[in-house]
Amino acid sequence: MAVDLTRPYDANNVFAKILRREIPVEILYEDDFALAFPDITPQAAIHVLIIPKGAYVSASDFGASASDLEIAGYARAISNVATQLGLQEAGYRLISNAGPDAGQEVPHYHVHLLAGEKLSAKLI
Ligand code: 5GP
Repeated sequence: MAVDLTRPYDANNVFAKILRREIPVEILYEDDFALAFPDITPQAAIHVLIIPKGAYVSASDFGASASDLEIAGYARAISNVATQLGLQEAGYRLISNAGPDAGQEVPHYHVHLLAGEKLSAKLI
């Protein structure tokens, strides 16, 4: 499902349901600002989704509308997840799809963390 970056937040999206614990996931990390859990369709040996707890449609929405505290907390959470997964030496890739051209499916801002193997198809 494509998403208009400017449209209002849809509280029925799958990540909103995960945040409300209506859909079960294996919680890998949680703090006041973020939740991290495995992607249901992993694209690498380690594929974790890290989502802010606030209701933001995309990276654009998050950057424009979230508080400085939320933005800092989310960045810290991503770093904490990588540390918790033991990736500080091997490394990892972060990807965030925003809008139709990027193929964003879930209209709740999220970052994909990919790791655990030598990653191919480097786009940039
Ligand atoms: P996007 O294309 O929006 O950047 O990525 C959305 C991701 O959410 C996809 O990689 C998809 O596999 C994942 N996903 C969709 N529904 C669920 C779900 O119910 N549980 C989990 N863990 N991941 C999901």
